[in-house]
Amino acid sequence: MNDAEGREHRGSPRWAVVVPTAGGPGPQRLLDALAAQTGPAPVAVVVVDDRRAGGGAHEDADRLPPPLVVTGGGACPEPLVVRSGGRGPAAARNAGWRALAAPTAERTAGPRVGWVVFLDDDVELPPTWSRGLAADLAAAGERTGGIVGTVRGSGRASPGAVYRAEALAAVGGFDERLGRAHREHADIALRLQRAGWAVERGARTGVARARTADEGGGQQERDSADDALMAALHGPAWREEAQVPPGRLRWHLATTAAAALAVAGLPAVLRGRPLPAPSAVGALAWAGLTADLALRRSASGPRGAAGVRRALLAPAAVPLAAVWHRARGAWRWRHGAQPWPGPAGGPLRAVLFDRDGTLVHDVPYNGDPAKVVLVDGAVEALARVRAAGLATGVVTNQSGIARRIITRAQADATTAEAVRRLGGVDVVQSCPHGPGDGCPCRKPAPGMVLAAAVRLGLAPGQVAVVGDIGADVGAARAAGARGVLVPTATTRPEDVEAARAAGVLAPDLSGALDLLLGSRS
Ligand SMILES: [Mg+2]
Ligand SMILES: [Zn+2]
Repeated sequence: MNDAEGREHRGSPRWAVVVPTAGGPGPQRLLDALAAQTGPAPVAVVVVDDRRAGGGAHEDADRLPPPLVVTGGGACPEPLVVRSGGRGPAAARNAGWRALAAPTAERTAGPRVGWVVFLDDDVELPPTWSRGLAADLAAAGERTGGIVGTVRGSGRASPGAVYRAEALAAVGGFDERLGRAHREHADIALRLQRAGWAVERGARTGVARARTADEGGGQQERDSADDALMAALHGPAWREEAQVPPGRLRWHLATTAAAALAVAGLPAVLRGRPLPAPSAVGALAWAGLTADLALRRSASGPRGAAGVRRALLAPAAVPLAAVWHRARGAWRWRHGAQPWPGPAGGPLRAVLFDRDGTLVHDVPYNGDPAKVVLVDGAVEALARVRAAGLATGVVTNQSGIARRIITRAQADATTAEAVRRLGGVDVVQSCPHGPGDGCPCRKPAPGMVLAAAVRLGLAPGQVAVVGDIGADVGAARAAGARGVLVPTATTRPEDVEAARAAGVLAPDLSGALDLLLGSRS
């Protein structure tokens, strides 16, 4: 690996693989397929475990799923496993490529990576796949920002996209408001093109879905919600620009209208009168359209019982669900949508504060609201952020819960008391885990900052974190947010020096806001 670093030249690009997963056998199967490649191997592999903690909302969940165990093989380096806390495929992909660059306990910097390949954990990789990839990368021009692979049989371009690491960073990664993988890739392709990068279609073939998509249903319906955001972000012509085939929304609308006509005739039938003519036409049209959809789905879907269910039951519900999701999405984004900001993030929209040692004098593992003593200037700082029109929040590590020194309820009551005396905040994120739990939320991991940003409907680059230790600034940096250090007497000197060198050191909360908001705000 060290040799390769010295010998890098055009024609031997260094690429890494990011595999987002929701658990199961998929990631290990994919790693085995990577190990069996006859072509070049990646310089790094990151598996992003996107299972959510407990099963409830992040803040309510104290239990993490057990760590994902996966191993590399062949010329493949051992995978780095990171957690992204169940925030969806876009957030998992972002966590993956950001982890590539992040320092860890074992290393001071990530490997130098020119390209990042995103592979869903359900794709089949033939042994020659990496040869094709290497050929695509070697042929890429200097302004090539992304190469989209094709997926056999589906016409969709999601499972094998590769992006230049520099281009990915330049546009701030994937838009985490999009819920489905193939819209994320269309969205980032459009943003790369607008930023001056070329997005090409790769020649490599043979990536195919191992599982049949849509087994559980609901995929097309959720696509509809994403399509509403795509239209708000990129205008009505986004499909042509991103070369996404037209959807079936028009047909779903027609089917739903026909069903409504038919249902409107029901009261008459119930009163013993004949079905009114418009309702009869509606019922006929609905039956025809639904039969057509059922035929299409049975032609492309699985065989056996699942196939019958898919062919017969779903078509009745699919059009209605699609129209509903599209309408809901259109309402949500009715005023348009803010573009996903790059790493600079555009204007700052929220300031998150660490609790202990930043807003509140640190009482170790405090579970008693009566012991809350606000730091001088904390009330004024929160008021100033609000007056500037920004959202506020608290992100706090509470490992006393994992250590069984305090209960979750005590920690939450203490935070609630601090928040009450500060005049309220827009979002609170609290990590109940200990340092050894490997959770995605405990600072310096980015989970709480990312979750707070999602809560506020913001990109991480629009958010800042103010805290008293290096882990606060580290969490901000790992999330793609801005971090400012306001040290106390117990802050480690090396953290203070690092913040000073980075220009993010402030003597107090007021000074931190001077840095973030400008001194006259
Ligand atoms: Mg602190
Ligand atoms: Zn945690």
